[in-house]
Amino acid sequence: MKIQKNPKKPLIYYILVSVMVVMVLNAFVFPLIMEQKVSQVDYGTFLKQIEQGKVDSVEIQDNQIGYTVLDGSGREKVYVTGKMDDPDLVNRLYDANVKFTKVVPKEASPFLKFILAWILPLVIFIAVGQFLMRKMAGKMGGGANAMTFGKSKAKVYVEAQTGKTFADVAGQEEAKEALQEIVDFLHNPKKYQEIGANIPKGALLVGPPGTGKTLLAKAVAGESKVPFFSISGSEFVEMFVGMGAARVRDLFKQAQEKAPCIVFIDEIDTIGKSRTSGGPSGNDEREQTLNQLLTEMDGFDADKGVVILAATNRPETLDKALLRPGRFDRRVPVELPDLLGREQVLKVHAQKVKMADDVDFNAIARATSGASGADLANMINEGALRAVKMGRKEVNQSDLEESVEVVLAGYQRKNSVISMKDKLTISYHEIGHALVAAKQSHSAPVHKITIIPRTSGALGYTMQVEEGEKVLMSKEEALDKITTFMGGRAAEEVIFNRVTSGASNDIEQATKIARSMVTRFGMSEEFDMMALETVNNPYLGGDTSLLVSSETAAKIDDEVLKIIKTCHQKAIQILEDNKPKLHELTKYLLEKETITGEEFMTILEAKESN
Ligand code: ADP
Ligand code: ZN
Repeated sequence: MKIQKNPKKPLIYYILVSVMVVMVLNAFVFPLIMEQKVSQVDYGTFLKQIEQGKVDSVEIQDNQIGYTVLDGSGREKVYVTGKMDDPDLVNRLYDANVKFTKVVPKEASPFLKFILAWILPLVIFIAVGQFLMRKMAGKMGGGANAMTFGKSKAKVYVEAQTGKTFADVAGQEEAKEALQEIVDFLHNPKKYQEIGANIPKGALLVGPPGTGKTLLAKAVAGESKVPFFSISGSEFVEMFVGMGAARVRDLFKQAQEKAPCIVFIDEIDTIGKSRTSGGPSGNDEREQTLNQLLTEMDGFDADKGVVILAATNRPETLDKALLRPGRFDRRVPVELPDLLGREQVLKVHAQKVKMADDVDFNAIARATSGASGADLANMINEGALRAVKMGRKEVNQSDLEESVEVVLAGYQRKNSVISMKDKLTISYHEIGHALVAAKQSHSAPVHKITIIPRTSGALGYTMQVEEGEKVLMSKEEALDKITTFMGGRAAEEVIFNRVTSGASNDIEQATKIARSMVTRFGMSEEFDMMALETVNNPYLGGDTSLLVSSETAAKIDDEVLKIIKTCHQKAIQILEDNKPKLHELTKYLLEKETITGEEFMTILEAKESN
């Protein structure tokens, strides 16, 4: 899909250059340092040449004599001869009018020494450095030329290549509607310019991971039939200071050349983080990059048709400057899909796969509350893979059901060996959950119980499915939920009178709910409707921070503990009251390993056999 690709020079190129450099040094530089090419002659010849007046100059060295002779054409030739004990030599040379010197052992000139000792290592050092820099720049997608080191890695997709339209995005109607205006502008900018309307320069797509933000941005480009530049915030933050800013500059330069176009910046929070949150010194590099981004956004003329879309799942961390008018002043929420949305996402992705007629997307959608679009797309694919593995030509309901579990709970660990004793404990534990759920009036119906372990670490699980989409939770439902979580451990206690580590996840989840009841939902008598905790980030797991003093925090803990203890007792009571059913259902589950909600209810509602 990448159109712009800078051809990288292979390593061999650099090796060849190095070899050439060495050869040049050998051919031209070293000979100057070494002794010139000379011929050896005997002392007699030397004397004869002096008498003949051929010798031009003589150098008397420690253990030999070097001299030059001018030949007919005036060229110099160098000879050496051995040194003899010849006291008359100087007179001879004087008489023959020859220049002569006595030299100390030949040394390289100070200039050459300076070059060799200082300049050459420096040149080699710089050359190696440059080579490494270029290699790194190449790795980061930049050009092989030092001058284009900061060239941005933004990929260009032209219309045909994003190939996405709003039809590819299931659900997300509000987001699509908000983005439709941008599409319209890119189609027909005149209409807006004539009336003097300010078209937004940028829109911020806000929502949890995998909800289709990238997909939506691509669809905007596809619908508008304009090029699509995309870059991730993390790619801006380079290892060399100044690189990020250079990339921003380059990205905008490219974009303006290709206008009208869409620029998509994923994970903008990595560069757009609030500048105050980084501590006093902060992160210079990131700050520079952010400043450059702000400058560029202010600098370009929106009428040209460059629209910047950015995505984040942490909008609250963004620097306020980014959200000011004329920058990302539009916020488009992209939420997790609801029941209908999930069904639509499944259907969109099922179009590319051969599906059996019996497939019930609604049932799958109901079982996947909380799944993102990406999860659902993944489920369809997993289902297709399973169908192939089973040697079938189309995907059926069981494939999809299986893939739901694969995606939500990890792959089945068929080959892991679990002792019979553990299996029995796990069975009681799971039936404990299911039985407690079934015996309470505010819990969701049991959909499936299994003791087949998952790679995610769950040894078994009980799946409950709400009948409709739920957005509110009553106090009774919250308590029943906690009691249901307690049911697993309670069964182990009731039957074996001992506890295992198998309830750790239940404990964690139950505590979370109980805590929220006290601190956020106003469901405890002690604190009534006082806000005790605030959610920092509604899009990422919802981590919270306390708003209260440490004494109050201790009281909160007491209150939470009270809720959990009450629910735990209630779960034990339910199981004590239904012990025969607990045994019967556990036996059945142990045999079958996986049972459906209907099977469960049939056994539960049947008259006791004895
Ligand atoms: P994000 O950018 O929000 O993290 P992506 O756009 O990368 O999510 O979504 C990942 C994949 O999930 C998409 O390529 C698409 O296959 C699927 N997907 C997510 N949401 C939807 C949706 N609403 N409709 C269709 N497919 C979706
Ligand atoms: Zn459990």
